[in-house]
Amino acid sequence: MYEKAFNDEDVAESDLVTRRGTFRAVAFKADGHEHMALVFGKIRMRENVLVRVHSECMTGDIFGAMRCECGEQLDASLEAIVREGSGVLVYLRGHEGRGIGLVAKVRTHVLQDEQGLDTLDSATELGLPVDIRDYTPAARILKHLRVQTVRLLSNNPDKIEALEAHGIPVAARVPLLMAPNTHNIGYLTAKRDRLGHDLPQVDVYPTVQSGRSAQ
Ligand SMILES: [Zn+2]
Repeated sequence: MYEKAFNDEDVAESDLVTRRGTFRAVAFKADGHEHMALVFGKIRMRENVLVRVHSECMTGDIFGAMRCECGEQLDASLEAIVREGSGVLVYLRGHEGRGIGLVAKVRTHVLQDEQGLDTLDSATELGLPVDIRDYTPAARILKHLRVQTVRLLSNNPDKIEALEAHGIPVAARVPLLMAPNTHNIGYLTAKRDRLGHDLPQVDVYPTVQSGRSAQ
């Protein structure tokens, strides 16, 4: 029997016409936060649904900050879903700075800019955890949407483990590689070297740069 992932009073949905097309916008209340799933095309009871589980990043997503690649990944995910003709973007709140919150995240930026600390050390220097994001709401949302298995747009193997641990089978990981820039190369390098993200575009970045400067 199908077990409800959410109570009716914690979910609301409507059509949402965007620049990219018309999505079904499904809003959820979970664990003190409000999240949203943007659903494109038919995904209910489907296998291999293209899914992005996106952690909220106000500076990157809304303001186009270049110190991380979140905003670009958000855009690229929605474009990939529309191109495919179906898919889901789950937008998770409460994930600022990998879960430390907005004020703390901006404090880490100060340490990064003034002391050259990377994205991990700047958090631990403040006595904060490096990653406390909870993916339980994402799994519940995907269950509510009756998605059977997913192809996850992500470079983060931990995210796959987390979803599978919460009962969402990940059939494949689809890389979501953004071109590095001078503002985020340090951040991307730390994610590759210290958080285990699969970021092959970072490996070739210095080569590309020296190639350009040599011309
Ligand atoms: Zn970001």
